This record gives sequence, structure tokens and C-alpha cells, in this order.
Amino acid sequence: MPSFVITEKCDGCKGQDKTACMYICPHDLMFLDKERMKAYNQEPEQCWECYNCVKICPQQAIEVRAYADFAPLGASVIPMRGTDSIMWTIKFRNGSLKRFKFPIRLIPEGTVDPYAGKPEPNYDELKKPGFFTLSI
Ligand code: SF4
Ligand code: SF4
Repeated sequence: MPSFVITEKCDGCKGQDKTACMYICPHDLMFLDKERMKAYNQEPEQCWECYNCVKICPQQAIEVRAYADFAPLGASVIPMRGTDSIMWTIKFRNGSLKRFKFPIRLIPEGTVDPYAGKPEPNYDELKKPGFFTLSI
């Protein structure tokens, strides 16, 4: 099921121009109601359920109801992201909790250079199939 905002927890990212959930959604679905200072998913049927907004929300105000095959009704899967790790809290239907912590990056946040070490593209070959990192 698509993402939804728990409005009691959302603080509208304290009135910033672009909230964290608006910044991260690959489909531009999150929207801030500036009068109420609450965000919401403006087109739930378009949601990819990618969990990006859930992971980035500093208030843990967004949830995605996970697919029933791995989180049956009444259970939940809640991530909490740190700068170098992410903690997943799994709540079972009987109320018991399990937590799993994983490292999420090997280099400092914000320092990724996606083109480092890659060759300059050859513009004459733009229309040929293939990837610029691949010789064909
Ligand atoms: S990221 Fe969280 S706190 Fe910020 S606007 Fe979105 S739902 Fe609200
Ligand atoms: S789950 Fe993904 S696609 Fe859906 S609203 Fe959140 S960031 Fe956007």
C-alpha cells in the first residue's frame, strides 16, 4: 500500500521550502499543506512504495503498509536512518519487536562522485545502443 503520513507526528519539516519527503520522492508525490504544516501523498495510486520518504522523514511520520507476504496485517516495518546505518524495527502481529541494524555507506554522507574514474562520453556515439561505461 502507498505511503501515508501520520499527521500527529509531521511538523512540516519546520516550514522549510522543500520538506525532506518532497526532496526525496522519485515521483514527486509528497506535498506540504502550508496552512496545516502537514505533508501528504498527493497521488497515492502512483506510489512505488520505495520507502524513500519513510527512511528520510526526521519525525518518523511516514509509513508504508508493507506487502502482506512479508508483513501481515497488524504487523509493521519501520526504518530509522542514521548517517552511517539504518535500523529496521519489525513489529509482529503479537506485538513482539525485533530490530536489525545495517551499515548504509562506506564514505561520508554527501561525498559521492558518481562519475569518478569514468571516461568522458563520446558524443559521436550517443545514438548507438549501450552504456558509456561499456565498450561495444
Ligand atoms: S519529511 Fe516527515 S516531518 Fe517532514 S514534511 Fe515530510 S512527513 Fe512531515
Ligand atoms: S514510498 Fe517512494 S514513491 Fe511513494 S511517496 Fe514515498 S518516496 Fe514517493
